[in-house]
Amino acid sequence: MKREPAPAVARKLAKLGIRTPDDLVLHLPLRYEDETHLTAPEAAPAGKPVLVEARLERADVAFRPKRQLVVHAEGLVLRFLNFYGSQLKAFRRAAEDGLLVRAFGEVRAGFFGAEMVHPRYRLVAPGEPLAQALTPIYPTTAGLSQYALRKLVLEALDEAALDDSLPEELRRRYGLADIGASIRSLHRPAPDAPTVELTERTGPAWRRVKFDELLAQQLSMRMAYRARRSRSAIALPSNGPLLKRFLGKLPFRLTRAQSRAMAEILRDLALAHPMQRLLQGDVGSGKTIVAAIGCLAAIDAGCQAAVMAPTEILAEQHLRKFSEWLGPLGVPIAWLHGGLSAAEKNAVVRRLKEREPVIVIGTHALFQKKVGFARLALAVVDEQHRFGVQQRLALRKKSAEAAGSTTAKTAPVPHQLMMSATPIPRTLSMTYYADLDVSTIDQMPPGRRRVATRLAASGRRAEVLARIRAACAEGQQAYWVCPVIEESKEGDLQTAVDTFESLRIELKALRVGLLHGRLPPDEKASVMKAFVKGQLDLLVATTVIEVGVDVPNASLMVIEHAERFGLAQLHQLRGRIGRGARESVCILLYATPLSQTARARLKVIFEERDGFEIARQDLLQRGPGEFLGERQSGMPLLRYADLEKDEPLAHTAREAAGILLEKDPQAARRHVERWLGSRQENTRA
Ligand code: ADP
Ligand code: MG
Repeated sequence: MKREPAPAVARKLAKLGIRTPDDLVLHLPLRYEDETHLTAPEAAPAGKPVLVEARLERADVAFRPKRQLVVHAEGLVLRFLNFYGSQLKAFRRAAEDGLLVRAFGEVRAGFFGAEMVHPRYRLVAPGEPLAQALTPIYPTTAGLSQYALRKLVLEALDEAALDDSLPEELRRRYGLADIGASIRSLHRPAPDAPTVELTERTGPAWRRVKFDELLAQQLSMRMAYRARRSRSAIALPSNGPLLKRFLGKLPFRLTRAQSRAMAEILRDLALAHPMQRLLQGDVGSGKTIVAAIGCLAAIDAGCQAAVMAPTEILAEQHLRKFSEWLGPLGVPIAWLHGGLSAAEKNAVVRRLKEREPVIVIGTHALFQKKVGFARLALAVVDEQHRFGVQQRLALRKKSAEAAGSTTAKTAPVPHQLMMSATPIPRTLSMTYYADLDVSTIDQMPPGRRRVATRLAASGRRAEVLARIRAACAEGQQAYWVCPVIEESKEGDLQTAVDTFESLRIELKALRVGLLHGRLPPDEKASVMKAFVKGQLDLLVATTVIEVGVDVPNASLMVIEHAERFGLAQLHQLRGRIGRGARESVCILLYATPLSQTARARLKVIFEERDGFEIARQDLLQRGPGEFLGERQSGMPLLRYADLEKDEPLAHTAREAAGILLEKDPQAARRHVERWLGSRQENTRA
């Protein structure tokens, strides 16, 4: 960018994630097109884009079948369904001046002979030389033409120094090409460049670019990790009286995996710098008690602990569990949620501001402005993947405030424990969670019943109803889950409400409840409470019950329109049952015909029970972008490297990151700045 681009252009560029000249230079082609030779329109092969050239004759606006710009050239017609008035004028003027149109696209046989619809084109004088090499095509956005974008990129490229941020020694060790030469060759391929290497993204230039991208990601995560780790935190020793008493009379015997996770957490908490740990374990693996043990260490040290859950229902359940487990020890527990009156809320807020040791449990209401902690030592975030990046940033800020100041480097910051039941496949955790330490609970508490999964076409609804009647007659409880339809929130609600109404009639003898996200908090809580207490037989619900809800007596689950749910969701939902002494059954009702992808998903959930394996399949089916979602990961996703295909390269980059940080931290910082300079904010979430 020689000059600052016009604001309108800058906005378009920002949409593409381009904010700096470096960003432009690293905006690499999506693919390449061959414009090095001309094809005669009548000789163009079907279905293959080619470059053609023809002398312009005239341009008109036609109205049938739809308003369109029709350009007649010698032996060729071009059609544009969307066009500007200025385009029409330009074509007419060019026709008068005897210019040619050079167009790239597929040629079809139309009414007037050879025809192209919406080709990429340029108006040229006779004899204009052809491109010598492949033409790069960039990812772009509406209103920013290939031509304009390419011009900006090439200008930035000419200005860029592109010095290599990797020391020669590392480059040699990993057999990496020079970065400057690599990037230049991708933007301006040499005439004799091997086409396959460019288009398939193999070859030394692409390899170097992918390596650098992976390296930047590794470095930024490690730097963020080190920066946080270098802060101070309140050390929470694990030999306090409350912790000792609780461990002496646990409500059940911890599994080996739980004990290991607990030890890892307690070891971290005892140190004077902040823990940043992810506790992952399949639904039902028993993460909550491990978190409660961590909170006890905080109370023992005379500090505060906060437990944040993504929904009221879940927060309330934590409140119940914590009260049941820790109440008898006299541990003060506070409860902060949207449904409290102003006076109640103020009372809680006041407690937190005083230096009173307390465990506060709540939803994101915990991290509102007016909630300030006098002595927050541990923040637990349950089902952390359900929180957005913004909420995680708010939490981090809150932690800094809790330290008394947002700037003082020496003020202690709280330890952080994130929990997630969506296991992250190894390839992803290596790259996207490299800034966290990870504990894994890979074992279920004893006595868990296997959940039998059945698939049934929606035509078999009557059989399913009979099954619910039979189960409830024996005193068991059941869930009926309705899908969330993203496009229409209203319709969503209606599905659950309608289903509730009809089931109430169809299952007259049963006590049926309804739970969905739009109910007022106190109503939600009372419905849930009734179900927990066994005052309801059947709970019709949307996916609000997807996370965390724990009712051991529920042994039957029907998921309606199972074909509309994602794999992770189905697995989470199914994890709600099989928690008690009974055999449990999950019935997946699906509407026919099934799409291929829906069939593939249902097959996985039918055959697999292991959360890690399901997550792996999910990743394979959806790719990392969708799997993580920008929202979830808070990380700019990889643009060039592909975690599946480039896994070996990712390992190499990880190793190199360690070496570079050690040997040349300056170069490491420069490298991150080049790749992620304008995208860093979210990395820290
Ligand atoms: P999740 O990991 O999905 O959050 P929870 O912490 O809600 O799982 O635990 C699920 C259920 O298992 C709870 O009722 C919990 O009290 C119980 N539980 C946890 N650990 C054990 C254990 N070691 N033995 C028996 N029951 C356990
Ligand atoms: Mg849980």
